[in-house]
Amino acid sequence: MPDKTPITVAHGDGIGPEIMEATLKVLERAGARIAPEVIEIGEKVYLAGHSSGIAPESWASLRRTKVFLKSPITTPQGGGFKSLNVTIRKTLGLYANVRPCVSYAPFVATKHPKMDLVIVRENEEDLYAGIEHRQTDEVFQCLKLITRPGCEKIIRYAFEYARANRRGKVTCMSKDNIMKMTDGLFHKVFDEVRAQYPEIETEHQIIDIGTARLATRPERYDVIVTPNLYGDIISDVAAEMTGSVGLAGSANIGEHVAMFEAIHGSAPDIAGKGIANPSGLLLAAVMMLVHIRQSDVATRVHNAWLRTLEDGVFTADIQGAGQARIGRPFGSMDFADAVIDRLGTGPAKLKPVEYADAPQPRATPRPLYVRQPAARKEIVGVDVFVHAADVTADFLAGRLVTLAHQPRPAGFKLQMITNRGVKVWPGGFPETFCTDHWRCRFVGVDAAGQPRAVTHAEVVDLLHNLVSDGLDFIKTEHLCTFDGEAGYALGQGQ
Ligand code: NAD
Repeated sequence: MPDKTPITVAHGDGIGPEIMEATLKVLERAGARIAPEVIEIGEKVYLAGHSSGIAPESWASLRRTKVFLKSPITTPQGGGFKSLNVTIRKTLGLYANVRPCVSYAPFVATKHPKMDLVIVRENEEDLYAGIEHRQTDEVFQCLKLITRPGCEKIIRYAFEYARANRRGKVTCMSKDNIMKMTDGLFHKVFDEVRAQYPEIETEHQIIDIGTARLATRPERYDVIVTPNLYGDIISDVAAEMTGSVGLAGSANIGEHVAMFEAIHGSAPDIAGKGIANPSGLLLAAVMMLVHIRQSDVATRVHNAWLRTLEDGVFTADIQGAGQARIGRPFGSMDFADAVIDRLGTGPAKLKPVEYADAPQPRATPRPLYVRQPAARKEIVGVDVFVHAADVTADFLAGRLVTLAHQPRPAGFKLQMITNRGVKVWPGGFPETFCTDHWRCRFVGVDAAGQPRAVTHAEVVDLLHNLVSDGLDFIKTEHLCTFDGEAGYALGQGQ
């Protein structure tokens, strides 16, 4: 008997303990070579005073085993409690969220019988960086951060996943027609990486039309790679389209640690009744088995599970989702026993799975990202954000033009003012609605009015001038060039 792989297991809250018990029973009977270490997470831990839902000592188990099979947890209502999932993903660098969405027609009712796709969602960046500020009375900001290492890691992961799982096409979805710098970087890196996988078909779609096509023709997709927010939304849409969210598992993959869980929550409404569907967690466990290179067991479990569906064995949630009723719905443990009874068999009509211990993406020799040499960076101006109510753009500009040229003649020139991104000076439209939040763009100019690079000290001088004149600046963003290329977007209408 080969050594058992240690894994960390958390039974979670609500239906969590029931579906974990059912899942571990199937794994054990299928011959999974695992040694579970149990940790406590969730409601009890939150209420014991750990605001992140996990006790400090539990991290040691996760860092030791590097594999986490997790049941859903209940996040207590009220402020002060941080999302455990976000904490775990970020702390352990679980950058890839992988969610297969597969239809099991005609055995599970769905409008999309041919759906078989995998969404690879970036898991750490984008608007989920959690950097939010209230800037004025009227304006709140959430910072969208997209990084080159983040893009390279997730996009390369998607291609390596496609290659390892014999999937022939990768679709990138972004909104780079609007967010030319952030989503533009995601698209650009996709173009760079796809050139290294010539055997894989590729395409890029704008997220809105991509989502529409996913919802109407999901069979045209294979692997989809997308930034965090879009991925969060489309992966729930796609899972629901297969017939039930109760059927989907997901993996959160990092360079060191991986976490596997069902996509649903702790379902407090049915907790303790023994009727929850353990399938989502069971399929997450199948992904875990592939990850720890026990593809033989993963294949046995998955095929037995497919056969169970074909035999009309369903928990109440599936029967309730428009499924033809075949007798009494099965409880969680009876369902697990039905899967166990079918170990060694496979589906007759659905496509059987066959996992191979192919090198996993995290183990590939190709680096997930390559840090590039630093570019030559110059500051050529500054956007100063000002809080001012009951003023017009022309009035504000009048003050700023004078201030820009103090204390030197060769200083800054006020180039434009925007409000919510729209240019309102020079030459604004009276119809444009303005809030109390103004972005004032200053560019460095020499005595002849020609563009020039500026220093941090000059920016500080400029801000000093503004504050001395009674203006309330909220923040600044430097306008930089990187090897001569502008690192900032134009204002709308500029
Ligand atoms: P939910 O997914 O728990 O439940 C939504 C509906 O689906 C409920 O009617 C529930 O009974 C049903 N359902 C879910 N899983 C099922 C299963 N396996 N079998 C049968 N029916 C199932 O979503 P919710 O009600 O919005 O959230 C409940 C709690 O779960 C909240 O505290 C939320 O924060 C938490 N949550 C946790 C996770 C996680 O730990 N990964 C994810 C989502 C929600």
